[in-house]
Amino acid sequence: MIFDILSLFPGMFVSPLSDSILGKAVERGLISVRVHNIRSYARDKHQMTDDRPFGGGEGMVMKPEPIVSALRAIGPEPRPRIILLSPQGKLFDQRAARRLSGLPRLILICGRYEGVDERVARHFVDEEISIGDYVLTGGELAAMVMVDAITRLIPGVLGNDLSAEAESFVEPILEYPQYTRPQEFQGYKVPEILLSGHHAAIQKWRRGYALLRTRQRRPDLFARLELTAVDRECLGLAEEEEAGAVRRSKPEGAG
Ligand code: SAM
Repeated sequence: MIFDILSLFPGMFVSPLSDSILGKAVERGLISVRVHNIRSYARDKHQMTDDRPFGGGEGMVMKPEPIVSALRAIGPEPRPRIILLSPQGKLFDQRAARRLSGLPRLILICGRYEGVDERVARHFVDEEISIGDYVLTGGELAAMVMVDAITRLIPGVLGNDLSAEAESFVEPILEYPQYTRPQEFQGYKVPEILLSGHHAAIQKWRRGYALLRTRQRRPDLFARLELTAVDRECLGLAEEEEAGAVRRSKPEGAG
């Protein structure tokens, strides 16, 4: 997968792309990330990439010419999907990450200031994507979020590809709670079933807690689930265990 990123601040990508899993994916040639400085494509003598908004108002707007020149210069092969990062775009989620991870090449355009001249969005990109309902100072962090979420879905990137399959949102539910050593920490114990070595019981426990968590934290997702009889049984077990845990953690004498 090739990512071409158009940005006014290419330096922002250096560390995220050289450390940890992304760094290794680059090193092993599983992804290639090319960051292009939009300013290099500004042709006027001051290399202006932004200007005042027509109609008045605060701030500056990114000019279309340097962005479109950059798109032309980096070329149409392999055929890219061109994405403009924008708080007004479609919300990025795991399903979008999966859809995009199957493509050969993505071009991510990072806006700054008050945003990008509307003609870029209307005529030169395939889609606009937002990473959440809040406004960032620029598209660089949003592009990195996308590169990260997409890259870890590419076969071979994670040590164990199965770990991406068990996670939150693969099915539209949250992941079960995770524990590691020590078995007891400051008096808090790991749920016994996880130490039992009883694989089927552990699976049931995990399923139950994943469902319970989803119902508690993301009722919107839970409402869309069609529970099987086994799901209901697992959920019931998790509810019972949780009720017991709450009772145990109440101070003496409390109602
Ligand atoms: N004036 C714009 C608006 O109200 O929609 C906000 C511009 S924002 C300060 C500058 C740039 O940051 C945007 O052009 C976009 O590239 C990026 N950006 C900000 N928030 C974002 C988000 N939630 N998702 C993706 N990109 C975002």
